Amino acid sequence: MTAAVRIHAIVPPYVLDRLAEAGHEPAVRSLALDAAHRAARLTAPPPAAADPGLSRLIADSGHAQRLPGHTVRTEGQTPVADASVNHAYDGLGATFALYSEVFGRDSIDGHGLRLDASVHYGQNYDNAFWNGRQMVFGDGDGEIFGDFTACIDVIGHELTHGVTQFTAGLQYQDQPGALNESISDVFGSLVKQYALHQDAASADWLIGAGLLAPGVQGVALRSMKAPGTAYDDPQLGKDPQPAHMRDYVDTGEDNGGVHINSGIPNHAFYLLATALGGHSWELAGRIWYDTLTGGGLPATADFTDFARATVAAARARHPDRPSVADTVTASWAQVGVSPG
Ligand SMILES: [Zn+2]
Repeated sequence: MTAAVRIHAIVPPYVLDRLAEAGHEPAVRSLALDAAHRAARLTAPPPAAADPGLSRLIADSGHAQRLPGHTVRTEGQTPVADASVNHAYDGLGATFALYSEVFGRDSIDGHGLRLDASVHYGQNYDNAFWNGRQMVFGDGDGEIFGDFTACIDVIGHELTHGVTQFTAGLQYQDQPGALNESISDVFGSLVKQYALHQDAASADWLIGAGLLAPGVQGVALRSMKAPGTAYDDPQLGKDPQPAHMRDYVDTGEDNGGVHINSGIPNHAFYLLATALGGHSWELAGRIWYDTLTGGGLPATADFTDFARATVAAARARHPDRPSVADTVTASWAQVGVSPG
């Protein structure tokens, strides 16, 4: 089976638009590349007859717009001199580890799909993306963004678009699209928390911490703990994410604000994980994973549908602990979503 898939890039179009309008040349070229990728209309590969378990392949695009480029490190090979290659290799491994060890999922398709990535894509390319087949990393321009392989939560975010593609298939528009984005942020953050053995209270709940170049006024691309506070910079603008339905942004940009309104379900997950305490992947993460992969979530789910499904998943997973489902309901209520 092949299905049309989307390009999922980590830096939202409105961020690069603003930089481009101010004459920032790498952003102009990055936007042109992103538009070309979207126009390419790739299709997902049929599930490969892969061996079970972790298998990675890292290629080097050599600063050209070439995919995949030449292979530089495959599964089991020792680190190479190029740090971007090793960061990509490790980030793919950390993502595989969360899905495999915590949720019992064999790679992003559930059938041992080899995880492929290309590094050094394009010249000063200000983005990273999942194209339905592989991950692609730019080096950043060094002025606004650094090397996109540096953040394992960004890698976890992008590969989770693959998991969503192979499971619930949430439409990439309006509320289902914002849920698609939010699910990638949730599991991206969990990849980082799991790798660092952090509990909910000590996690930073940021997406892309360390990605912004020195001098940029901001800490990350998004904050699940405090949506709307990740950056406020003369060049980047201000983080536009709401944390509550009363501030929901109605817009035609960004596929109906998929990177903007994702702040609302992001914050609901943060509230749940911190209220439950301990390791976020054990209770809250499992409820989100069950919801995403359980087969009952329609591709057109809105926030209320998703919230209702998470409450049902909590009840199903914890029949003897109704307090868990009650905490899920309360977390959604705090962001203005009523599961009913
Ligand atoms: Zn995304």
